[in-house]
Amino acid sequence: MSEKSKSFRSNLYEIDLKKGAIRLKNRVCPKCGRVMALHEKPIPRWHCGYCSYVEVVRS
Ligand SMILES: [Zn+2]
Repeated sequence: MSEKSKSFRSNLYEIDLKKGAIRLKNRVCPKCGRVMALHEKPIPRWHCGYCSYVEVVRS
């Protein structure tokens, strides 16, 4: 386990070159305040592993 994790921080962000925007990839659950996970299949959605809250991503 001696691998460098240089890109760890950038994994939390998504850079949209078309819009020139940087947005946080990880959202915080509005119910319990924990970091939610982004699932892309079958549909893009945020899922909280703690309280099972789900928020569908709209484009
Ligand atoms: Zn939650």
